[in-house]
Amino acid sequence: MATRLFIDGQWTAAGGGSLPTYDPATGQVIEEVGTASSADVDAAVGAARKALNDPAWAGLLPVQRAALLFELAALVDAHHEELAALETRDQGQPIGISRQVSVTGAAEHLRYFAGWVTKIQGTTNPVSFPDTLHYTRREPVGVNALITPWNFPLMILVWKLAPALATGNTVVIKPSEVTPLTSIRLVELVEEAGFPPGVVNLVTGDGSVGALLSGHGDVDHLSYTGSTAVGKLITAASAESNLKRLTLELGGKAPSIIARDADIDAAVAGNLAGATLNSGQVCAAYTRFFVDRKREQEFVAKLAAGLEGLKLGPGLDESTQLGPLVSAKHREHVDFLVSTGREQGADLVTGGQAVDRDGYFYSPTLFAGVADDMTIMREEIFGPVLAVTAYDDQDELLARANDTEYGLAATVWTRDLGVAQRFANGIRAGAVFVNMPPIPDMAAPWGGYKASGWGREMGPWAIDAYTEIKSVWLHYS
Ligand code: NAD
Repeated sequence: MATRLFIDGQWTAAGGGSLPTYDPATGQVIEEVGTASSADVDAAVGAARKALNDPAWAGLLPVQRAALLFELAALVDAHHEELAALETRDQGQPIGISRQVSVTGAAEHLRYFAGWVTKIQGTTNPVSFPDTLHYTRREPVGVNALITPWNFPLMILVWKLAPALATGNTVVIKPSEVTPLTSIRLVELVEEAGFPPGVVNLVTGDGSVGALLSGHGDVDHLSYTGSTAVGKLITAASAESNLKRLTLELGGKAPSIIARDADIDAAVAGNLAGATLNSGQVCAAYTRFFVDRKREQEFVAKLAAGLEGLKLGPGLDESTQLGPLVSAKHREHVDFLVSTGREQGADLVTGGQAVDRDGYFYSPTLFAGVADDMTIMREEIFGPVLAVTAYDDQDELLARANDTEYGLAATVWTRDLGVAQRFANGIRAGAVFVNMPPIPDMAAPWGGYKASGWGREMGPWAIDAYTEIKSVWLHYS
């Protein structure tokens, strides 16, 4: 029997059939997952609308709403190992990443935003009107659709769910059809934590279910993480329906600049981590390496050795450093882009092929001598594929690093504070990391410039994304 949807506090059979979800380490089906019909999506949005003003939710005191979020965090902690193993089975990531990044990250986000519930403030403002009190209120945006990708399904869902609930909204969750299992389990924990019916609803299925949400006239805000191509479809659907507010966390093609004075061993270690975490299926992954020509050979040799030394294997094996790609289809996409790298004349240093074993493994791949206009330098690969190019002139480098449609993340490896500052200020990206891998934190804003998206998640910026600011004018003479 296929998994069920969660609508208005009830687990209901999906009206649109089902889709299998696969274990990327073996290629075997794990489970059939229900596909929501159009009527299911309407019911879920309707339940979220009804719950929004229901006193059981809207009437909770801030401390009570916070308590529900703290309880959900405690349940995530209590099911830590189970959730980590499920994430690894469905997504493929090494179990250590599931534990430390996905599940611990989810619990920490929930606690962080539980803390915010009692700190969401308005302002009083010095308007130039006589006898007038002016103040602002922060109100929930309303019904939120949360559409998530397959690379960090549990954690990215919580990046959205925690601030949405902290600010008193209601939600309809649509996880990726490729990795839905931890989202389904999290919703079971939401139910156990005691959130009132209709506050959190879950509809599973493929992009067509997401499209029903993005074109829905009764969704007030849609928070989406995924590819830029789908982000554009969602934007068009929003414009054609009700002009719902959008938060878009889209693709990336992060440059990594290795300056002449860089500590090369630290740069190799940090870039290896930043490029191969979750098999490179990370939106902020370092992919375009600009190395000072004097350090190029040393950097390429050490990076290749690092990639060749990574232990490939199933994520559930504790010793695995590099798991499989998420799906057969995605592995074809990565392999296709690698073949364009070869055809366009990049120098393949190591890797470059699928691994001959069960599951969707791909060998970590390094290209050197890559030109800025090659496809592998421009398109998001979202796999363990690294492209190195050399530079002679630091003054031209900023323009080369910025020559991309994306602007999510970037990194600079240098011991020179002036160089670090010049690139931190000049790079058009939502996050610039100096001498470190691209690790988000709930206290720092996360989001992109250019085609990497709109808006910011995390920190007080997420409170902005999930609230409307109302201006209240009170004339008292
Ligand atoms: P995707 O765009 O294929 O799918 C993401 C979600 O959108 C899925 O739930 C999918 O079912 C849904 N969807 C597909 N078509 C839709 C439509 N027409 N309308 C509404 N929803 C639709 O992305 P993916 O392949 O799952 O994820 C990889 C992408 O996500 C990469 O581009 C990556 O850079 C990006 N990403 C960005 C961030 C960030 O923070 N900026 C984080 C993680 C991943």
